[in-house]
Amino acid sequence: MTELLPPDAAGVARACALLRAGAVVALPTETVYGLAGDARNPQAVTAIYAAKGRPARNPLIVHVGSLAAAEELAVLCAAARTCARTFWPGPLTLVAPLRPGHGLAASVTAGLPDVALRVPAHPLAQRVLAGFGGPLAAPSANPSGRISPTCAAHVMAGLDGRIAAVLDGGACPVGVESTILGFEDGRAVLLRAGGLSAEALARVLGAPPDALRASGPVVTAPGQLASHYAPRAPVRLDVRAPAQDEVWIGFGPGCDGAALSLSERGDLAEAAARLFLVLHEADATGRAIAVAPVPEVGLGVAINDRLRRAAAPRPPAQEA
Ligand code: AMP
Ligand code: MG
Repeated sequence: MTELLPPDAAGVARACALLRAGAVVALPTETVYGLAGDARNPQAVTAIYAAKGRPARNPLIVHVGSLAAAEELAVLCAAARTCARTFWPGPLTLVAPLRPGHGLAASVTAGLPDVALRVPAHPLAQRVLAGFGGPLAAPSANPSGRISPTCAAHVMAGLDGRIAAVLDGGACPVGVESTILGFEDGRAVLLRAGGLSAEALARVLGAPPDALRASGPVVTAPGQLASHYAPRAPVRLDVRAPAQDEVWIGFGPGCDGAALSLSERGDLAEAAARLFLVLHEADATGRAIAVAPVPEVGLGVAINDRLRRAAAPRPPAQEA
């Protein structure tokens, strides 16, 4: 039985007690729900991978309460610290070399010498981190390869009976996963588009957004396979005229006849917040899915990244 915990002091206290006991608990963050466990406890980390069916070579993001807590775990370069000061708490993950004596379970980073760190802004995530008093490993709280959860009901639909509890914080306001930034010799490199736009990062780093692109052939973060966020039904993108049997997801005005819309007024923040909810709803119809074009700017880059993964050919073994 998975406990559904209320978003109050009792719910937070119960979540902290379960985490201290080494159990895994789904928590709301501003991006998506995370499946949290004690990042220093190898059994808890193993339980996260097992509940999701996630391949062990796909490392987890470690959530901490503050920049100071992050610096106990990793060595941040000047550019990383600038980003952290500007955007934490918030939907930005920084990848940095582990600090000697970090105390994290080796499985959190899949044995890599770098760790991915984030300070989440969601008040409930912050209260759990403060109450728990340590780092929490937390990938998205969905079975590996499936659509990420942006409400407690999505978590339950995917993981009921496989995890100790879900702290119900309602809908996640950002709705897509964090932007992941790595550093090569102090130069920032975008490893995953996400809830913080490349434009906003580039402004703070004093670089054009294109300068954040990885040099050479597409360098993806470990574990990121093409197919991801996959609904059960096939997905077609950039569709202005859907086929009869398709459920059409619109974006912006002029999508008359669309059964669902990411944002009727064409707002990218609203579309990001609604993306996984709308994909869950479209998937529930059992019909093939067609999606209207979404502009490739700002949050549109993360939205299109997730849509392309949802539409990618599915390998026999899925990843998340
Ligand atoms: P998720 O927790 O599902 O949002 O995915 C976390 C993603 O963060 C992984 O799939 C990796 O792409 C990335 N990541 C986590 N840890 C590291 C790391 N140490 N180095 C590079 N990328 C990482
Ligand atoms: Mg995920």
